[in-house]
Amino acid sequence: MVERSEVAVVGAGPSGLAASCLVAEAGLQVTLLGGVAQVLEDDPRTIALMQPSVRLLAHLGAWPGDIMAQSAPLWRLKLVDDSAGLMASPPVVFDAREIGEEPFGWNIPIGVLAAALERRARDLGVTFLADEAVRLQTSGAAALLRTAGGHSLSARVVLGADGRSSIVRAAARIGTVEWSYDQVALASAFDHSTPHRDTSVEYHKQAGPLTTVPMPGQRSSLVWLERPARADALAAMSDADFARTLQVELHGDLGVVSGIGKRKLFPMRGHTAVSFARNRVMLLGEAAHMLPPIGAQGLNLSLRDAATAAELIAGAARFGDDPGGSDLLERYDRMRRRDVVPRQGVVDAVNRSLLAGSFLPHGARVLGLMLASSIGPLRRRIMHQGLGPAELPRVMRG
Ligand SMILES: Cc1cc2nc3c(=O)[nH]c(=O)nc-3n(C[C@H](O)[C@H](O)[C@H](O)COP(=O)(O)OP(=O)(O)OC[C@H]3O[C@@H](n4cnc5c(N)ncnc54)[C@H](O)[C@@H]3O)c2cc1C
Repeated sequence: MVERSEVAVVGAGPSGLAASCLVAEAGLQVTLLGGVAQVLEDDPRTIALMQPSVRLLAHLGAWPGDIMAQSAPLWRLKLVDDSAGLMASPPVVFDAREIGEEPFGWNIPIGVLAAALERRARDLGVTFLADEAVRLQTSGAAALLRTAGGHSLSARVVLGADGRSSIVRAAARIGTVEWSYDQVALASAFDHSTPHRDTSVEYHKQAGPLTTVPMPGQRSSLVWLERPARADALAAMSDADFARTLQVELHGDLGVVSGIGKRKLFPMRGHTAVSFARNRVMLLGEAAHMLPPIGAQGLNLSLRDAATAAELIAGAARFGDDPGGSDLLERYDRMRRRDVVPRQGVVDAVNRSLLAGSFLPHGARVLGLMLASSIGPLRRRIMHQGLGPAELPRVMRG
């Protein structure tokens, strides 16, 4: 028997959960296909969500809820040139108080975020199908999904949020442009004896950035990009050796390091889908784009994907238009591409300027840091840009 839903979402990661909530909240019938992400409970990643993304959570009733107490505000972002090159820049500090009265955003454990979104999705009446999509046929007025467990689900539009190896993307015959870096990100968390003062610090080192992000109390999360061999060695160290090594890398800025959390490695690669929407499919999150964790862009972009898709689908439904029609899909592709692609370019340029080790890219990065440090209007412009584009989906606007 074929089950029917107005909208099908494939992938119960943070992007798919957020999209399901937003579409259901707009009054449409949604089926979310995929095992709910218990794995995220064990994941050491925390996600720095900027204010537009926090507003989306508030719109859904998921913020502050019980998330806020487990999260920390981000008032200051500090960039430290720690690459030991011939030219060096003084640290650049971006302070949220320079552009407003609220923090840049909040640092939230990924498991806490996913659990809160899952609860909201259930409250909003999303139908959960804990099964894996194995096939997708897109022809005529509907898309037909088949699952490993033998279900068939028909929908007018499919939101592909099934991560970097998306089968939805492949089934819609959408290719990707892919690249990789000779780096691995190590994610963890640690206690420290000196307060973080609500400041996230990005140390630009020769093998890539090492970033500390505040958590509640005297604890921070860590995203450390390293060459693969060193990352493996760091992951294999005892907690005591790792704490000592990290303390040295931080130049003692956070005092004595202890209480090392679970460590997890993520190979660094990037991709962009050649189209973000085609054949009754809209791609969201890492199914559409992937980039290194520099400047906290990944999930912030994905939540903008989710909000844009939901807004377009709800608009089509209001006027009796086809939510999977080609005009609407082309609009989604245009809107998301102009946000995603330039940000991927900036992150890639910063990362490669460190890895290249040659004078020109290093000099350009150091010059950029010097200008941002000394020119107030430029610094404020960078802060506004970092929060998101000027044109935001309705649920993310201030
Ligand atoms: C170390 C690190 C730190 C980061 N920090 C930040 C940050 O501070 N701020 C930020 O904005 N971003 C950050 N990111 C990026 C962010 O983590 C990702 O963008 C985000 O987790 C991607 O979510 P997703 O839902 O798109 O993909 P995923 O989390 O990969 O979810 C995909 C889901 O689809 C499911 N699935 C796959 N195939 C199928 C199928 N066939 N059928 C059904 N389900 C399927 C999977 O099981 C999974 O549940 C960071 C990334 C890393 C690696």
